[in-house]
Amino acid sequence: METKVTKSDEEWRRSLTPEKYAVLRQAGTEHPFTGELLHNKADGTYHCGACGAELFSSQAKYDSGSGWPSFTEPAEADNVQLIEDWSHGMHRTEVRCASCGSHLGHVFDDGPGPTGQRYCMNSLALDFQAGDTSGTEAR
Ligand code: FE
Repeated sequence: METKVTKSDEEWRRSLTPEKYAVLRQAGTEHPFTGELLHNKADGTYHCGACGAELFSSQAKYDSGSGWPSFTEPAEADNVQLIEDWSHGMHRTEVRCASCGSHLGHVFDDGPGPTGQRYCMNSLALDFQAGDTSGTEAR
């Protein structure tokens, strides 16, 4: 899938807070147990903190105990991009927003439920919109 939202590094730097820029555009990781959305249990949808694309439903969110917001699956498989990541001496699967290419977190195969997946996301990479989760892009 091609990236739809393209901005220069300077544009991203201007449009994001330094904290969000470090995670979304520099693949940083927030400190565990610090994210505003970690304990958010409200109904709604989680969107890319950079471009606003819908990424996760609150229905897929669960408490993994890892210290980062965790989801069993994305709202739409096509909305995220999975990339092999060999950085920091580990072999992981990086998760990026398919619309803008921003870094969101990693996915691990130690999750619960039918998918067995744990989408381990940075709270700083997500924007939460409260509301109905039964339809797509519900307002
Ligand atoms: Fe995005």
